Amino acid sequence: MKIEYQPQLVEEAVLRKISGNPEGKQFRKERDKIYEIDDKETRESDFVKLNQNWFQRLGLANAIFEVLKNFPILETSVARLVFFKSSSPKKQSAELFVSKEGLNVNVKERQSILVSILPELFCEGEKFLKFLRFEFLHIADILDLDFGYKLEPQKDVYDYLFQQRYTILWNTTINGRLYAKGWAFEQERAQNYLIFKEAFPLEDSDAKKFFNYFFFGNSHNHDELSLFAKKTENWIVGSKQQTHKGKCKLCSFPTFKLISEFPESLLGKIRKDFEDFEQGTQICQQCFDLYDSRNTVN
Ligand SMILES: [Zn+2]
Repeated sequence: MKIEYQPQLVEEAVLRKISGNPEGKQFRKERDKIYEIDDKETRESDFVKLNQNWFQRLGLANAIFEVLKNFPILETSVARLVFFKSSSPKKQSAELFVSKEGLNVNVKERQSILVSILPELFCEGEKFLKFLRFEFLHIADILDLDFGYKLEPQKDVYDYLFQQRYTILWNTTINGRLYAKGWAFEQERAQNYLIFKEAFPLEDSDAKKFFNYFFFGNSHNHDELSLFAKKTENWIVGSKQQTHKGKCKLCSFPTFKLISEFPESLLGKIRKDFEDFEQGTQICQQCFDLYDSRNTVN
C-alpha cells in the first residue's frame, strides 16, 4: 500500500511540531537556504522535500504505521492511503473510495482510503492513535466479506432515520471492539451508551441488554445491524408489548414518547414531505428533531 500526504498538510504538521522543538533551529537553517534559491519551481519542490524529510524525522507518521499493523486487511485490499487536510474538526474521517475505472484491473488497484485530517492531530499522540484505530476499523469492516457491508439507498425520512440508527449501532460495535482491546475506556463506553439510548426507543432494561449485546458481542455483521436498526420492535418480542405507546406516523418506528402538538413553522416543513400532515398526528422525538433542525421549508 502506497501512503501519500498532501504537501500542505505535511508542511502545517511539521510547523506545529517544530515550534518550541530543540531541532527547530536546524529546520529553520535548512529552510532559509531554500529561500535563497532563485528558480521558483526548484524552490517550491525543495520546500516540499524539506517538509517531507522533517515529517519523517519528527516521527509524525509513526502512529499510522503502528495502527496499520493491527488491520492487515487494509494492507492487502487497498492500493493507496491518502491523507489530506480537513476543513474542520467535524469533517475528520476516513473513507474507502472505489474507482470505477479499469474494472478489469484487480480490485485492490481500484481501492483507496482517503483520510481527511487536521494537521494538529498528527501532534496529538493518543488522540491521533484513537482516531486512526476507529477509522481504520470502520474501513476494515467494509472490506471484510464476513461483515457483508451494503450501501442502502436514502430516499425519505425513514431511510434517513434508519441510516442514523445504523451508524450509531455500527459505531457501538466498533467502540466495543476497541474497548475489548484496551484502546477505549469506561468513560467512552458510558458516552456511547447514552447515544445508543437516545437513538433507540427502548426501556432502560432492554436498552442495557441490547447495548451490551452490540458493544460486548464480538461478531456482528451488516445484516444484523440493519435488522436491528429497522425493526427494533421485533427484537423485543416476549417483553411487555404494551411498553410502546404507538408508532410514529412519519417513520413508523414504535416509540414511548409521541409528540402531537407542533408550531406552525414545523407543520410547514413536514408538509413539504407529507402533504396531509395535520396538527394532532403523533410523531416521535427523532422525527420532530429532524424537521425542527431543517432551516427552511424547502
Ligand atoms: Zn419518527
